[in-house]
Amino acid sequence: MRVMAQMSMVMNLDKCIGCHTCSVTCKQAWTNRSGVEYVWFNNVETRPGLGYPRRYEDQEEWKGGWVRTRNGRLKLKAGGKLKKLATIFSNPKMPDIQDYYEPWTYDYDMLLNAPAGEQTPVARPVSLLTGEPTKITWSANWDDDLGGSTATMADDPILQHMSEHVAEEFEQTFMFYLPRICEHCLNPSCVASCPSGAMYKRSEDGIVLVDQDKCRGWRMCVSGCPYKKVYFNHKTGKAEKCTLCYPRIEVGLPTVCSETCVGRLRYLGLVLYDVDKVAEAASVEDEHDLLEAQRDVFLDPHDPAVIAQARADGIPEDWIDAAQRSPIHRLISEYRVALPLHPEYRTMPMVWYIPPLSPVVDVVAGSGADGEDARTLFAAIDKLRIPMEYLAGLFTAGDMEPVAESLKKLAGMRSYMRDVNLGAERDESIAASIG
Ligand code: SF4
Ligand code: SF4
Repeated sequence: MRVMAQMSMVMNLDKCIGCHTCSVTCKQAWTNRSGVEYVWFNNVETRPGLGYPRRYEDQEEWKGGWVRTRNGRLKLKAGGKLKKLATIFSNPKMPDIQDYYEPWTYDYDMLLNAPAGEQTPVARPVSLLTGEPTKITWSANWDDDLGGSTATMADDPILQHMSEHVAEEFEQTFMFYLPRICEHCLNPSCVASCPSGAMYKRSEDGIVLVDQDKCRGWRMCVSGCPYKKVYFNHKTGKAEKCTLCYPRIEVGLPTVCSETCVGRLRYLGLVLYDVDKVAEAASVEDEHDLLEAQRDVFLDPHDPAVIAQARADGIPEDWIDAAQRSPIHRLISEYRVALPLHPEYRTMPMVWYIPPLSPVVDVVAGSGADGEDARTLFAAIDKLRIPMEYLAGLFTAGDMEPVAESLKKLAGMRSYMRDVNLGAERDESIAASIG
């Protein structure tokens, strides 16, 4: 066992209202500059939907800069020197500006200097790239318009599937929000794919950064990151990404997105992990075993053997203390309610999610039954408004059991607290059901 420390985040999706405060405050702090107008280090996606950049989850489409070696490590695709150079120069699989969205602003001239007329004048949206009226056809969160947006549906198999569903059973449509930042992965493919050695993972806290002096603008990191969380600044010609607000972290402040989150849903903290288990966990073949293997790299910060090894490996005493006070290990390994986003990418993401709870859909109106009560939910977990299959596709490579485990605990806790607040007697059957 070799112990290292990692800054990580758990987001509770049950509480996200899609207000974008996190995105806007992050943008103000980090990407409020020319060259990165289209860039959102923090974005909040509408689910189901295309994501940002659109279709980034279609790994076959974007498979570009990296391959997984037999020991689970990731490295730059292509073999010999010449082949490698050819890959670097062509860098074939990158999203273009329309996949992010065309940045635009308003032409207020139309509003302020419009001649008198019968209609109220409006400011005209103009492209920040061309200065002309924007021809934008898609943008992040346009999939909010699930009910009638044939434009987005025609483009996306998931939404097409949804639209069939809409036609059949309109009341069973669903949506929720998924905030995303760089995952600061334990096995980062952006680092593996950078030919210049500019991308690096800090050894002290695992934050993944770009050395702006070393970056040569190859953009292999952009195609290499399966989460598409590295961006190209077309003014400086360098790659940029979420820094996990390291200047704030270093002085004991939370990231801007965590501090300003309206839902208070971002839990930020240190975890201790066994660096010797990373390659093993990343190379697990059977996708059903991936989640447990990835959970297994985390170490219990209260275990005396772990504490002794952490000290021997040079982890400072106050960091061990911080890991013990952090909620991350508890949410991931102890309570087992947090799940990783796309563990099958095998980069070992370090932003985990508590899946959103939703009511049972076929509770008969007027029956007096409560669609959100744990007892109802335990009996009909396969009939939740947000289907478990969909959540499993996001968080467990399709395995529904861990999603059910997490949702049952959330529902149990909610019902228990409701009983407590109403002064009702504690229902032991709830505790017994969630273990
Ligand atoms: Fe790198 Fe992408 Fe992982 Fe962030 S999410 S560390 S950019 S591979
Ligand atoms: Fe969701 Fe919080 Fe961001 Fe609002 S600020 S969109 S609640 S993560």
